Amino acid sequence: MKTVKTAAEMRGIVREAKRDGKSIALVPTMGYFHEGHLSLIREARKKCDVLIVSIFVNPTQFDPSEDYERYPRDLNRDEVIAERGKVDFIFAPDVSEMYSSGYSTFVEVEGLSKVMCGKNRPAHFRGVTTVVAKLFNLIEPDTAYFGQKDAQQVVIIKKMVSDLNMGVEIHVCPTVREKDGLAMSSRNAYLNEEERKAATVLYRALLKAKDEIIRGDKLLKFIRKEITEMIESEKLARIDYITIVDPENLQEIAGIDKPVLIAIAVWIGKTRLIDNIIVNL
Ligand code: AMP
Repeated sequence: MKTVKTAAEMRGIVREAKRDGKSIALVPTMGYFHEGHLSLIREARKKCDVLIVSIFVNPTQFDPSEDYERYPRDLNRDEVIAERGKVDFIFAPDVSEMYSSGYSTFVEVEGLSKVMCGKNRPAHFRGVTTVVAKLFNLIEPDTAYFGQKDAQQVVIIKKMVSDLNMGVEIHVCPTVREKDGLAMSSRNAYLNEEERKAATVLYRALLKAKDEIIRGDKLLKFIRKEITEMIESEKLARIDYITIVDPENLQEIAGIDKPVLIAIAVWIGKTRLIDNIIVNL
C-alpha cells in the first residue's frame, strides 16, 4: 500500500491502471477509521482491481462555527487499518493541494442540499459535492462506496452523478453500529462517558418508530411526536430535526404506502449526531 499526497501523482497512478485495463474503486472518507469505514473498504475490495481510499478533512463542508479544527485525524493509524483492508492507495492530499489560493468553483445540488442537515448546515452539502466531484474527476473511479449512515449524502451524490453524467457506479453499504446500537462515527470520539450512554437514544428512537410503523395502528405524525418525547426525555439530548421522508427523493410523506426513511439529527452535549433507518413494509 502507498500513501499519495499530490493530485499529480494520483493521476499518474490512475492513468497507468486504466491503460492496463484495471477497474478502480474509490472510498471517499475524512479518515479516523472505524468499522463503518472498514465495511466500505471490504465491500469495495471484493469487486475492483485497484482500491483507492481518500482521506481528506474537507474544509468546505464545515460551516465556520463547526468542528473543522477539532475533527479527529490520525493518518498513521488509518494507514495501519487500510493496510489490513488491503487498500492499494491512500490519497491524503493537503488542503492546498485540493483548494489552491483563489479557488472559486463549486458543485451544488439545489433543493436536496437545503433540507434536513442542510437547513442548519447551509454550506455542508455544497462542500461535499464539490470535493466528491473533484475526487471523481481526478481518480475517474468505476465505482465509489458510501455509507447509508449519511442517507442524505447518498441521495445528493446519486443526483449529482446523474445530473452531471458522471460515469461512476455508486454503492451504498449498511450502517455499522456499536453493540448498543449507536451508529459508528468519527465524532463519537468527542463523547464523554455520560454522553456516550445518552447517545444510544438515537437508535432506540429509530427502532421505536420502526416498530410503530410495522404495527401500523398510528399515524406518522403521532409516531413522530412519540419519538420526539422519547429523545427529549434524555436530558443531554437536543433535537436538530426528526423527519420522515421518501428515501429516494427526501420529500416529506404523510402515509406509508412505500418505503420510508426516518432520519434524525440530535445534539448530545456539544456533539451533533445523525442516524436513520429505512422501513420497507
Ligand atoms: P466520513 O469519514 O465520516 O466522512 O465517512 C466516510 C464514509 O464512510 C461515508 O460514505 C460514510 O457514510 C461512511 N460511514 C461513516 N460511518 C459509517 C457507519 N457507521 N456505517 C457505514 N458507513 C459509514
